[in-house]
Amino acid sequence: SEFIKQIPKIELHAHLNGSLNAEAFSALNALNGCQVDEHFYQILSTDPVDLKACFSKFKYAHELTQTVEAVALATEMVIATFYKENVIYLELRTTPRPLQGAVTCEDYLRAVISSIIKCRTKYPNILVKLLPSIDRSKSCSTARDNIAVIIEMKKEYPDVVCGVDFSGSPTEGVFEDFKPILERARSNGLKLALHCGEVENQSEIEEMLQFGMDRLGHGTFIRGKQFEMLKVAKIPVECCLSSNVLSKTVKAYDDHHFKDLFNINHPVVISTDDLGVFNTTLSKELLIAQNTFDLAEKDLIQLIENAIQSSFASDVEKEIMSQNVSELPTKMS
Ligand code: 5GP
Repeated sequence: SEFIKQIPKIELHAHLNGSLNAEAFSALNALNGCQVDEHFYQILSTDPVDLKACFSKFKYAHELTQTVEAVALATEMVIATFYKENVIYLELRTTPRPLQGAVTCEDYLRAVISSIIKCRTKYPNILVKLLPSIDRSKSCSTARDNIAVIIEMKKEYPDVVCGVDFSGSPTEGVFEDFKPILERARSNGLKLALHCGEVENQSEIEEMLQFGMDRLGHGTFIRGKQFEMLKVAKIPVECCLSSNVLSKTVKAYDDHHFKDLFNINHPVVISTDDLGVFNTTLSKELLIAQNTFDLAEKDLIQLIENAIQSSFASDVEKEIMSQNVSELPTKMS
């Protein structure tokens, strides 16, 4: 709807290499002089896929981001994508990885950060922050090395690097092994946004909730006692509707746990996850939420406000964004 298009939006859960749309694909193909077909990368509702198959999609994007120039361009293209649909605040997440030609994880992060800083002039109406990701399917020693780099990057760029994302294939890696590493990030002032409950694993979910976090990604399989823990802790949940339905961890939109959280006034936000892979936009996701759960305009505004308050922006930045949203003329649609 027109209303959704026009309202200032907030994106808190977007993976860089999952958020390359068709335009980004062609720009990166042109830069690299290659021909990676975006159709391999996209998941369509008719595809017989599961979560594992979804994870195999990222390799197509990774083929396109093999140099610091390509990583910087990918960052800029993703920022431009969100900017064009009136997203005023974006927390981008990405897993630093070594690239060809002795490019280190630190170089990877520097490429992303300098692109974010460059975009502050080019796209002044969108504030972008970075959550470097820790990939649970990789080793703890990699995670430990990366956290050390991330802590240094936060000192150097405190207004860009605001936290850490814990992601990667949820059937791989043991959360317990990553606890001291994430604890180190937390004690160094980094916020924690953890993917949790993407697959059935009650003991891990409980362990993660006990450990605590500033925001929780997905939370699809959180039930019973763990759901009570989530409620009491009031941890904001990032819901990614298309991502969950297309990767078949949720049967249908109207089955989505978003409604359970929204109905009890739990802080919940709508996010895209990987708009390239799932062929979506933040506006589309909000429209799906509106249509599926019969949301009124005031509910949509509430979702934006939830996102502002759950973001890792400073209090002053939150205040400015909130002002921006509250000044909206009502009944635009
Ligand atoms: P990148 O970190 O390379 O910029 O973005 C792609 C990566 O994000 C994937 O390789 C994966 O580690 C992570 N990712 C993207 N979507 C999801 C998701 O839905 N769940 C989890 N756990 N990780 C994801």
